[in-house]
Amino acid sequence: MKTVVLKFGGTSVGSVDRIKKVANIIISYVKKRYKVIVVTSAMSGTTNDLVKKSKKISNNFISSEYDVLVSSGEQISCALIAGRLNHLGYRSQSWMGWQVPILTDGNHGSSRISKINKKKINKFLQSRGIPIIAGFQGVNLNNRITTLGRGGSDASAVMFAKFFKAQKCIIYTDVDGVYTTDPNILKKAKKIKVISYEEMLEMASLGAKVMQPTSLQDARLNRIDVDVKSSFTNKEGTLITKRKNIFNKKTIAGLTSTKNDAKVTLLGVKDKPGMAASIFKPLSKNYVNIDMVVQTSSGNKRETDITFTIQLDDLSTTLKLIKQNKKIKYRDLIVNKNVSKVSIIGVGMITTPGVTYRMFQTLANKEINILVISTSEIKISVLIEKKFVKKAISALHKEFKLD
Ligand code: ASP
Ligand code: MG
Repeated sequence: MKTVVLKFGGTSVGSVDRIKKVANIIISYVKKRYKVIVVTSAMSGTTNDLVKKSKKISNNFISSEYDVLVSSGEQISCALIAGRLNHLGYRSQSWMGWQVPILTDGNHGSSRISKINKKKINKFLQSRGIPIIAGFQGVNLNNRITTLGRGGSDASAVMFAKFFKAQKCIIYTDVDGVYTTDPNILKKAKKIKVISYEEMLEMASLGAKVMQPTSLQDARLNRIDVDVKSSFTNKEGTLITKRKNIFNKKTIAGLTSTKNDAKVTLLGVKDKPGMAASIFKPLSKNYVNIDMVVQTSSGNKRETDITFTIQLDDLSTTLKLIKQNKKIKYRDLIVNKNVSKVSIIGVGMITTPGVTYRMFQTLANKEINILVISTSEIKISVLIEKKFVKKAISALHKEFKLD
């Protein structure tokens, strides 16, 4: 008998009615003679509420108790699913992370699964039971509850698929797959049938909120095929798999844009070794994530301008740290909150020349000014004024034949 892991996200288990639907989906796999392992997230909104409560108690809430608190939402959805399956005459039982146990490494709030103990779950599966696992949580060597970072039930599902050698890992969510770009921005966006881990990882890190990026790293590392599907419709979803399995490759798989970026420019910074390090050191110490960076020399070789982008949430901290920083001198500081990073992603660009040029020319034709550029092997990102995002996405979508 083949094993399948079914993961249900927050909206899929968002109400009692939804949970009844989920139970029916689970049963449909049992009827197809699969051994089914279910991993569930908390009912939508629950985890956010718990995080809010922790902040009201303390803005420095102790991380070990934070994990006990925020992992509790999954206990509710697990029990409701198992309860429904029992009601319908199926043998089912809920399992919290510590009961399995799911062992994790790393810090509270951002742990990673290192091992899943298979014994009890296997025994239950053999007796035709349907285990319902609380996603997002585990237990560390001190026997304390840990969590895997927001959205972490995706990682739980992928790791169960790995340890139980599942034939499939299906992520049920509220969208029916991964799209070439955000359908809210461009109506013409198309569902992607198959996408590589690498491309999906870039898309998820660049703003496509379909799966947690760390879970995609786990899937890639362990070569787990992941299907993303909607629990609301019965449509075919998107398969995330290794490059080798993908035929009929397009140069560009998809486009993304960000919503909450800010650009900071320091004009007239002294051009000497260590300057950039002095600017970024306090930022990194305070966990401000720097995204794009450019340095331009201003001709006379004595001064340069440094521009970088950060999350809008980090802007006030960043400005405070720069103004307090006695090690740096600059002539002026400019902030732009109306920027967005637009990216094209595709493994095809490794082997196709001229992609960079085509991107820049397409934007030029639309008279969109590029503020900052950054590239990696399989993506090109440009920072542009927010008001041009729709225009840019639509032109690029057409240029790279995704329409
Ligand atoms: N319930 C957790 C969260 O909201 C985990 C998840 O949804 O994957 O982050
Ligand atoms: Mg989620």
